[in-house]
Amino acid sequence: MVVWKGWTGKILRVNLTTGEVKVQEYDAELALNFVGGRGFAAKILWDELRPGTDPLSPENKLVVAAGPLTALPIPSSGKLVIASKSPLTGGYGDGNIGTEAAVQLRRAGYDALVIEGALKTPGYLYIEDSKVEIQEALDTWGMDTFTSERRIRARFGEDAGVLLIGPAGENLVPFATVVCQEGRSGGRPGMGAVMGSKRLKAIVIRGTGEPTVAKERELEELASKAYDEIKSKPGYEKWTKYGTMMTVRWSQEASVLPTYNFSEGVFEEAESLYEEYVEEFKVRQRGCPHCNMPCGNVIAAEGGVEVEVDYENIAMLGSNLGIGNLRRVALLNRRADELGVDTISLGAVIGFAMEATERKLIKEGIEWGDFNGVLELIDDIVYGRTELGRLLAKGVRRATIVVSSDSWKFAMHVKGLEVSGYDCHAAPAMALAYGTSPVGAHHKDAWVIAWEVSSGDRLGYGKEKVEKVVELQRIRGGMFETLVACRLPWVELGLDLDYYPRLLEAATGIGVGFDDLMMVADRVYNIIRAFWVREYHVERRGWSYRMDYPPQKWFESPLTKGPLFGAKLDPEKYRAMLEYYYKLRGWDSNGIPRKSTLSKFGLDYVAKGLEEVGVRLSE
Ligand code: SF4
Repeated sequence: MVVWKGWTGKILRVNLTTGEVKVQEYDAELALNFVGGRGFAAKILWDELRPGTDPLSPENKLVVAAGPLTALPIPSSGKLVIASKSPLTGGYGDGNIGTEAAVQLRRAGYDALVIEGALKTPGYLYIEDSKVEIQEALDTWGMDTFTSERRIRARFGEDAGVLLIGPAGENLVPFATVVCQEGRSGGRPGMGAVMGSKRLKAIVIRGTGEPTVAKERELEELASKAYDEIKSKPGYEKWTKYGTMMTVRWSQEASVLPTYNFSEGVFEEAESLYEEYVEEFKVRQRGCPHCNMPCGNVIAAEGGVEVEVDYENIAMLGSNLGIGNLRRVALLNRRADELGVDTISLGAVIGFAMEATERKLIKEGIEWGDFNGVLELIDDIVYGRTELGRLLAKGVRRATIVVSSDSWKFAMHVKGLEVSGYDCHAAPAMALAYGTSPVGAHHKDAWVIAWEVSSGDRLGYGKEKVEKVVELQRIRGGMFETLVACRLPWVELGLDLDYYPRLLEAATGIGVGFDDLMMVADRVYNIIRAFWVREYHVERRGWSYRMDYPPQKWFESPLTKGPLFGAKLDPEKYRAMLEYYYKLRGWDSNGIPRKSTLSKFGLDYVAKGLEEVGVRLSE
């Protein structure tokens, strides 16, 4: 029997259809090869989903996974990953959430929770250590996330960890998120809709234990040093004052602020979204458990309601829609949070509708800057109240099929996931990061834009740009997503990366070096890529290198404003970057992992699985 330190060694499995509850004691191989979080989720989904599973069927599985660093008293460890086959993209989907539920899951004695099946009537999954039960949720089904969360806490206790969905998840909007702690959300590729399809309103967790660690004193010393270092960093004060909202000004100055459905990188009213307005209307600051650099700015939105604002939400619902008033944009953000719908995808689908209106492709459309129209449209989308709402609720990729045969050219997505907040007309590396992200167009795996803007070779397509994307994907998308810890102490304040393998060793007693973690990162990337290829192959959607292309608009329509006037991406040069990216990854010319690559990472069974469904693998 393995004596676990750091890891709990247990995965809780719940079948909502049969009511069966099992505690799986997993083996050391899983821990060492996949570490936790995204690693566990990707492995479980590859191994256990029948190829071609309908994402909204009871057979799909929802994985809620912590890692060996989660919930330990170390910097920014209050995070978990929530993953499933995505109803938006048809591929692998996950999101990362800072939540008390992460802490409670580990205190309850589990590293992960796997949910399958579906309830007949809406329910809560309530976990308290070894007690696991389903309770009816008729009191909150149909209710917004803020009111629901308050009721759930009143019922189960204020200290419980709660992950819940709103009407968007219940109504199976494919970009519905999972929400926690009044408006914090994650799982952009429709993790909320997967919960909704299982009629699971909330997961409520309470734990009374603590994960044990191998070298307690060493861990304490390291953690205390890291906490002190974070506080002494020059950017600390500014970060805790403004958080990611500083990025609006930076993006405008760098000409990457998404504007008018990613047509431009500068917005004429950008100043009205700058961080000084955050300061003016700030109500309080909040953050994730165990974090001493909290970045959640709660401001009073128009009408006085409170909302936590961050860069992506404000850019996508603000400049991208031509709306330049922070408190108004915050109100849109609040409505999206209440309904449990992803603000980034929402901004992208509404931006698409505005451009389609301008091009006269849809009749009952919506104009740029129409704040009241957008406020109504959010409800129309979530509740399917109007034709336009029902159209946009499909997500931008599916909406193009209805709008016009060439509307795909201004549909801003990669693999079906709408692009997050960085315009890439003049940012080839960031375009590659979107193109090759393992969930679709999201920045979390490789936020290479900051490096690219200051690289001195903004418009270049050189090999070092590709290498940087891979490096960041390994660290951010691999190491941080498997350990599971927040990457921002490193990204924003420059906390030394070396802390993480040392913290892992102190927690688990196993000497895992940085290079070992990079190997795990590559293994996870390969299994996720294999998942996409398998699902697209079985569902006859077709798979080719074109799946790794950013939106056509960035190649076709140059910037018409700002310091980078006239810039657009070059398709040939992008292709060359992609080919080099595949080479570095050990994938073939269509971005499919080679047999030898899968073998190198101990994934021969994955190669076999791909061949069994008819995928031809190169050696
Ligand atoms: S930096 Fe922000 S996102 Fe990261 S743990 Fe702290 S509060 Fe959460």
